[in-house]
Amino acid sequence: MEPSSNHPARYWHALDDGRLQCDLCPRYCHLHEGQRGACFVRMNDGGRLVLTTWGRSSGFCIDPIEKKPLNHFYPGSSVLSFGTAGCNLACKFCQNWDISKSRDMDRLMDQARPDDIALAAQRNGCRSVAFTYNDPVIFAEYAMDIADACHERGIATVAVTAGYITPDARGDFFSRMDAANVDLKAFSPAFYRQLCGADLQPVLDTLVWLRHHSDVWLEITTLLIPGHNDSEAELQALSRWVRSELGDEVPLHFTAFHPDHKMRDVPATPPETLSRARRLAQDAGLKHVYTGNVHDPAGGTTRCGQCGEVLIVRDWYRILDYHLTAEGACSHCGTRLAGRFGPYGKPFGPRRIPIAIHAARPA
Ligand code: SF4
Repeated sequence: MEPSSNHPARYWHALDDGRLQCDLCPRYCHLHEGQRGACFVRMNDGGRLVLTTWGRSSGFCIDPIEKKPLNHFYPGSSVLSFGTAGCNLACKFCQNWDISKSRDMDRLMDQARPDDIALAAQRNGCRSVAFTYNDPVIFAEYAMDIADACHERGIATVAVTAGYITPDARGDFFSRMDAANVDLKAFSPAFYRQLCGADLQPVLDTLVWLRHHSDVWLEITTLLIPGHNDSEAELQALSRWVRSELGDEVPLHFTAFHPDHKMRDVPATPPETLSRARRLAQDAGLKHVYTGNVHDPAGGTTRCGQCGEVLIVRDWYRILDYHLTAEGACSHCGTRLAGRFGPYGKPFGPRRIPIAIHAARPA
């Protein structure tokens, strides 16, 4: 299918008063003729819901998979990353606000059919394609079409998401994904309400569903914002919930906030806050807790959950040492590390390489 501006959307129904209800995310927007949802990219167009960003992207880059962040999903591999525009949350601290809050469709310069993207990933040696930069839930139809094209070419797919999706849609959406990094932005309903314009519970529901009712490889990220979600009590509660509801092997990443968007008055996260959060989560029984966006050798190291030996040493996005077999087993004691692994070659490294997608098309 060629890129077009208005693509038929799924997950909606007509209301008695003539409006349409979007059933894709827990906002359940009710839309009059011509009205767009809170995400800005889904619209009532003549009595049918359409996605206005199918086939359009804000740009493509090749990244290390560690940047998503995913530390247990083909370590050292490269991933073709892209996003579109808009978002279904309204986080005051958004670290990608120029994309997620964009109302300017002109910035979606790169037109790309699903197979163009899969082909570009294949030709550039990428193990996977990541839907990232903005939340792929809002462009679910496009992301799912791309995922199908990727799988036909043996390319894996990764969703970087807030997990704000309804039960109606999550089965379809995540059945196309091989891995997900879900933001658990805090462990407080008030934080979600006041700083994200959203509810916590649907995110928790998505995490439990992913862990127990899907084959998607799951990692979680919590951006620590000084004074807002970094208290000892909240971090303990979050970590204990992950341990009890998702198990001790789900990797949890604590990453550093930088002042941005509508929260420029809050200071950047001190490295010691990340280390303290990591210790609390480890004390709660989690085996794989990482710090991100900082140089922290301890917080970037994967250890065997059985024998405690070092398996992967990282410095930011650079892998310095690797002691897993091709099957993902500890080369010391043979215990399998939770995750998805394959033969390990030369790591991609910390580079970020922008690419033009049309260069991948056959002449
Ligand atoms: S996906 Fe967009 S239009 Fe649909 S309910 Fe969520 S915010 Fe509203």
